[in-house]
Parts: sequence; structure tokens; C-alpha cells
Amino acid sequence: MKIQFFGAAETVTGSCFMVTTEQEKFLVDCGLFQGSKDLKERNYGDFAFNPAEVDFILLTHAHVDHCGLIPKAYKHGFAGKIYTTIATKELCGVVLPDSAHIQEMEVERKNRKLARSGAELLEPIYTVNDAKECLKRFIGQKYEEEIVITPNVTVRFEDAGHILGSAIIEVFIKEAGEEKKLVFTGDIGNINQPIIDDPTIIKQADVVVMESTYGNRYHIEAENKLETLARIVKTTQKKGGNLVIPSFAVERTQDLIFHLQVMMKEGVIDPVDIYIDSPMAVEATKVFLDNPEFFTDEVFCNISDAECREYFEGPHINYVTAVEGSIALNKIKGAIIISASGMADAGRIKHHLKHNLWRRESTVLFVGYQAQGTLGRRILEGEKKVRIHGEEIAVKADIFRIDGFSSHADQRALVEWVNNFEKKPSHLFLVHGEGEALSTLQRVIEQEAGIAAKIAEYQAEYEIEDGVAAKVKEPVTVKESLVMPELADSFRNIQEKIRDMANMPGKDVRKLQYLLAQLNEIERELNRAG
Ligand SMILES: [Zn+2]
Repeated sequence: MKIQFFGAAETVTGSCFMVTTEQEKFLVDCGLFQGSKDLKERNYGDFAFNPAEVDFILLTHAHVDHCGLIPKAYKHGFAGKIYTTIATKELCGVVLPDSAHIQEMEVERKNRKLARSGAELLEPIYTVNDAKECLKRFIGQKYEEEIVITPNVTVRFEDAGHILGSAIIEVFIKEAGEEKKLVFTGDIGNINQPIIDDPTIIKQADVVVMESTYGNRYHIEAENKLETLARIVKTTQKKGGNLVIPSFAVERTQDLIFHLQVMMKEGVIDPVDIYIDSPMAVEATKVFLDNPEFFTDEVFCNISDAECREYFEGPHINYVTAVEGSIALNKIKGAIIISASGMADAGRIKHHLKHNLWRRESTVLFVGYQAQGTLGRRILEGEKKVRIHGEEIAVKADIFRIDGFSSHADQRALVEWVNNFEKKPSHLFLVHGEGEALSTLQRVIEQEAGIAAKIAEYQAEYEIEDGVAAKVKEPVTVKESLVMPELADSFRNIQEKIRDMANMPGKDVRKLQYLLAQLNEIERELNRAG
């Protein structure tokens, strides 16, 4: 049996792993690359394998960096089925056509330029139609059920506690009269998320392919995230302005609606109108309401459908899909507006920032990771003026950030998860992480669990035998646009650490913020040099 890493290898996006047995060839995830220009380029052109030779795909969850290239595989000849959970299948019905729409728009914009210069026109990676067609091949399963895919391959989806329907996939493979168990973690969730359960503990595996996103980070909770949220809502209400929250459409938005509803119900905050202005978030919320069996029993056990709905619907919750409804929000005061994208680099949120950033009475609250170069990151870093839709906007609103809503396990939780194996797996590959996150997690797993973890390299292939994983295909070296990628990586880590410290009570916040600004400047220089 062989395993090859076509994505999420020394990076966090583009998850795609190929398993080749004597009889079968299958993929676990087939995700879109996101982030730098070099990474995004990998989405175009041909796959490094022939999709027509792939028998089936196993999908961990509905984030585009895990499922976003399945329609491309379909377009390029993949004719098999995609096995996943029921909720992931339904969320993909929202996410994939949206992703296709973005691809089509992007290519249309590029082609206008290319046409003017007489150059050859581009084709979208895939179209809305490709996405819709490939969705017909999805098969949705419940958690914990065994699915016999071929006489040699059986799989089981276990709750990963990351987003609705997310799964850790257990794969049982029979080869030469022996059975081996492979475990693909997908993204491992953070504990204590409001709607879904904590990640499932797995006790036995021969081979583990594990995510490492926060391999070098602890989620520091300077204070209770819900108390902070309540305080921000109250102070904004007092000022009479709007609270604008850029939020990922799937899971984060529904978590926020849930928390705010509970706070209103319990009288922690005064009733306030909440507008969810994102067609994708509205669609995703419908999927949540259709799949309450994927919710945690802790809150949702023994309650009726109507009671369950009360957490997401009610007199103060307004779902906005029509453009006119979205525009009407420009004139609103004293409301909470939750909109996408989560990093404020696209979508309707940009309009709400344009109409609220310059108002002192408004507040902008970030509840998710803001990648470098995004509008969200620039606002968070304290820029006093930002450009939105070609217009210069002064930043006068209060800007806050709450980290505790992360949907990823931190280093402590990742290591604890590994420590639950009763017998050490013979192979553990680390994927879905960057530089220091990978090397730190590798070291900590070695020290605390006594397992020699391997960092999966891009396109490297390993032969899985007892006790050894011999590399049979060398990795493809990756072209980096940064002159000193390791240096840039270290900077990012220092920045994150200082930002954490600035969030802790009792620290000299001003000094830390000054330090952070200096680092940001150096980082910009570095990027320019690249
Ligand atoms: Zn994810």
C-alpha cells in the first residue's frame, strides 16, 4: 500500500492524499489551494495524477480547502463516488456552486484584460454546472456507520468536532490477507464549540495522517469569550451604533447566532436586531436546521424540532438574501450585522465596513483568523485609513477581536488526541500545517507520545510496510516567492505570540502594540523584497 501527498503538505490548504492499494486507488479530500499566488497557481492546469484512474474519494468536511477541487477532478475524468457525511454532502451543495461562481467571476475579470491585450483567454477551473453535476455523485453517511466500499475497503466516519458534519475517517484496508487501519483526521475541532460535539477519540490505528494547523499555538483565553462578546454588544448598544462582525458563513455564523440568542434569552444582553447578510450563510443555516442529528446532545438532546429552531430563528433574527435588503442595512442603526467573508476581503461585508468603519459609534469585531494582506488584517493592525471599493474610508469605529471562537484544536489538544492511542501507530504523517507549526508538533509528539512523526512533503510517496514507511517518490521542490521563507515564517510566529500577549490582562499593551507595528513594517519590507 502506498500513500502520496498532493496537497496540505507543508502548507495548510489544498488537502489531497492518494492511497494506492493492490486493487484500488482513492483520494482523501481534494481541496483548493488558497493563500499566496504560487499556491493558487496549483489550482490551474492538470492534476499531478490522472483523475480518471481514481476509484472513489473520501471527504472529511465541507471547507473548500478540503473539497474545493472535487468538481475539477470530475471535469478531468473522475467518474467515481464521493463518500462523506450527510451534513457535509448538504453543505457542499452550498459551498461548491459558490466556489465555482467565484472561479467563473475571477476568470471573467482576468479575461477582459487578456482580451484587450490580445492574449489567449483562460478557462475557469470549473463552472457552477460542473459543481452541480459532481454533487450528484456524493453519498452521505451517518457517523459511526461502517460502509463497505469495495471487498477490500471499509470506512467509518467519526465526528471531528470541527464544523457541522466534519469527520475523522477510519479506513480499513485488506491486502494480502491482512487488514490495516488508516486514520485521516481532517481538521480536528476545538473543544466546547456550542453546536457540535468535541472531536472523537480514536484508540487504534496503523497509519495516521494528522492535521497540524495550530501545532505551535495555544488558544489563550485572556477572559471568557462570551463575557467579552456580551460586553462588546452592550457598549455598542450604549453608543447607539452597529456591531459589524465579519464571519465565515459555515459554523462560525451559526455559533454566533446561537450564542447571541442564548444571551438575549437569559437577559445577559438587551434584545437587539441581528441581521445575517450573506446568502451563503443563510443557505448554510438551513443545512444546520435540516441536520440536528449532527448537533451535540449536550444542548440538543430531547428537545423538539421547534425548540431547536428557536436557537436560530426568532423575532430578532433576520436573514437577508436579496441585494435590496442588504443595501437597506446601510441606513440602519443599533443593530448587529453578521456578514461574509470572514476575512473581509470579498462579499457583502465590505459594504458594511464601508458604511460603519468611519462612524465612531460603530464597532467591528473579528472572530476568526485574518490572513496576511486581507482587509480584515489591515483593520486589525490599526490602519487609520483603508480603501474599500476604490474609496478611502477613515477607521474611527472601535475595533475588537476575540480569538476563542477558533474551530481548530490547539497544540495541547492535538497532543492529547494522539496520546489516546492504546498502541502507538506505526506511521504518523503530519499535514495541514506550516513551518514551525509542523516542526514543533513533530518534536512534541516525539517527546510526549514517543511517536516518530513524519512531515509529509509535497508529492512525496511512501510505501507503507510494517514498521517502516519507505519513501518511494521524492517530493517536488516548491518554488517560493519569498526570498527568505523561513525568516518570514519566524516573523509570523513572533507576531502571533506578541498579539497573544497583547490580549492578556496585565501586560503593557502599548509597548506590545508598538513592537507589533515594527514587525509588521519589517514583514512588509520582506514581502516587497520577495
Ligand atoms: Zn476545515
